[in-house]
Amino acid sequence: MSTEIQQVVLASNNRGKLNELQHRLGGLGIKLLPQSQFAIDSVAETGLSFVENAIIKARHACKISGLPAIADDSGLEVDALLGAPGIYSARFAGEEATDADNNQKLLAKLQGTPSEQRSARFRCLLVYMRHADDPTPLICQGSWEGFILEEPRGDNGFGYDPLFFVPSEHCASAELPADLKNRLSHRGQAMKELMQRLKLK
Ligand code: IMP
Repeated sequence: MSTEIQQVVLASNNRGKLNELQHRLGGLGIKLLPQSQFAIDSVAETGLSFVENAIIKARHACKISGLPAIADDSGLEVDALLGAPGIYSARFAGEEATDADNNQKLLAKLQGTPSEQRSARFRCLLVYMRHADDPTPLICQGSWEGFILEEPRGDNGFGYDPLFFVPSEHCASAELPADLKNRLSHRGQAMKELMQRLKLK
């Protein structure tokens, strides 16, 4: 990548994601811009995989902004539920579901499932597209292994963090400080890979 500042759109309105990614990409001369700056609306996530949905979001942001774009798609896979909620993690308990609704549904589905059968992982797919018709997007991924707890623990994070037990830290993801979660998590791993691959370009 050249030394001039490259503007890149992040196909998300999540401030936390923007700050975390900007923090990592700043050193590469990339200025990340939120999609709200271009009045980019959200696009239907009609893919059947994380990578398809990330590409749909990145392509949409490229098309409207005329700039390269980064998009991510992530979710929780629970082995006892054959990989559910997966790509439907945000809307597990319905289109308008809150994190609390989704967590409650997950606990109900796993009621009676013994702890050794509650294995799960978060997955994150990050995609970088140079332009809307980019035939070779950069695709990076991370996964974070854990177990689903029987009741929520901790107040940090979002989504399923209170139910996700992190074996290496002996606590729930929602009990981890943000910087440690960012280092360990599926998203942190995918961001690290993206940074390395952009550095090599
Ligand atoms: P999105 O890819 O940011 O739309 O996330 C999809 C959904 O997956 C979120 O709404 C959460 O329910 C879940 N999810 C993804 N990453 C995490 C995480 O780091 N912690 C907790 N839940 C997550």
